Amino acid sequence: MDSSTASLLRSMNRRKFLHGSGALAGMGALGLTGCAPARRVAAPAVGTAPPLPFYDEYTPLVPIRAHADRIFRITVCLRPFRAAGPRRDIEKIGSKTIVHNYGHGGSGWSLSWGAAAGATKSAMAAAEGSNEIALLGAGAIGLTSATMLQRAGAKVTIYAKERAPYTRSSRATGSWTPDSRVALASAVTPTFAAEWEEMARASFFMYQSYYGMAGTPIEWTDRWGLSDAPRQPGARAAGVDPNVRTDRPAPVHDFIRLNDRIADLTPRPIVMPAGSTPFPTPYVTRSSSMTFNVADYSRQLLTDFLIYGGKIETREFHSPQELTELPQKVIVNCPGYGGRALWGDESIIPVRGQIAWLIPQEDAHYGLTYKGLSMLSRRDGIVMQYSKGGEDEGWNDTNETPDRTFAEEGVNVLAELYSRMAAMKKKPA
Ligand SMILES: Cc1cc2nc3c(=O)[nH]c(=O)nc-3n(C[C@H](O)[C@H](O)[C@H](O)COP(=O)(O)OP(=O)(O)OC[C@H]3O[C@@H](n4cnc5c(N)ncnc54)[C@H](O)[C@@H]3O)c2cc1C
Repeated sequence: MDSSTASLLRSMNRRKFLHGSGALAGMGALGLTGCAPARRVAAPAVGTAPPLPFYDEYTPLVPIRAHADRIFRITVCLRPFRAAGPRRDIEKIGSKTIVHNYGHGGSGWSLSWGAAAGATKSAMAAAEGSNEIALLGAGAIGLTSATMLQRAGAKVTIYAKERAPYTRSSRATGSWTPDSRVALASAVTPTFAAEWEEMARASFFMYQSYYGMAGTPIEWTDRWGLSDAPRQPGARAAGVDPNVRTDRPAPVHDFIRLNDRIADLTPRPIVMPAGSTPFPTPYVTRSSSMTFNVADYSRQLLTDFLIYGGKIETREFHSPQELTELPQKVIVNCPGYGGRALWGDESIIPVRGQIAWLIPQEDAHYGLTYKGLSMLSRRDGIVMQYSKGGEDEGWNDTNETPDRTFAEEGVNVLAELYSRMAAMKKKPA
């Protein structure tokens, strides 16, 4: 097939997809032509490969330079996990109204805008006409809540002991993972799934307004799932669910799975035909997901907050009583894992996670999972999380000291993958 025929076929295929899958209607329903997030008309079928190759010379895939001496830092973060899901209730302390917004586990960035919308509604109602609101915390949840409050007309002062790059949010992977370690199925209320869905959809919708900006705070990148063994029999739709990873042990805790409720928002992972990708593993899936380039995105959130008249004060609180010293009547409380000490809230369980950062590669924009390793090539660094214990790893572990040996083990897994890939390329046809 010559290149003009290939190009024609590609364009026909795209048109066929847009009309055939309901994607055009979906764009409108998604709010791209309106202003509210909504369901798409129909989700595309799972696991069907279009006739043209997915991976080809038009989408070159740059190998990651996986060498331990390219690690420029190792960070550790504690996910603020609550078995019942994020805390969102309202509490009175003296004359102050506290609107809680913490405990988003491994989903804080992903759910942030939806969580912020809920907190804003509660805070504005409690403010009863006053538009001065205090907000504790400058992580993912605090910055987005402050922004939403401003958009609702409030004058906001953030009080926080740390801001980026020192917050725990600055040490996240930066991926759209709205149901990652967000609650236990056995501990949630019957309304939790619907509340979660509302949060996730509201967040997804708001993220769309950050695409295409200078500094690329948010973008879509490809995600590859690589495996040397077939997916477990019985895994949904021939094992194309990215949550069902066979390269790590099944979790002991019954982490709730909710992504099916929003499956219409993002492209489904597709099982790639054998030999159609440059990867050496026999089993490969491909999808696309949102990447949060956290360094730029945090800066942008804070800059916007300040431009719109927000104030930020560095301050540490040692007890809830100290909050009564603030001049504002309503306080939105977004302390993340810090809520455990500040509120004596032992329902927050730390789930430790470590990231090794490799020097960014300007031309590599994708992520992959392979043998317990999760790699995402972001603009501000190539983030690598390695795990031998699966989702339970780090459960109730408060140790925030980086483990260099473990980080290097992860780099070696990636190095082995790319050396296999290079060897495959060198083989004569
Ligand atoms: C390894 C790892 C990878 C992750 N990857 C992702 C991902 O890809 N996608 C995703 O959506 N989520 C991810 N997460 C989860 C995400 O990082 C958290 O859910 C999120 O950071 C929580 O944000 P937060 O604003 O609630 O808390 P934080 O970022 O901890 O912010 C809390 C704020 O409150 C302030 N504060 C706390 N206590 C006090 C006090 N006593 N006085 C004054 N100020 C106080 C802090 O200084 C800070 O400003 C990941 C987590 C880990 C550990």
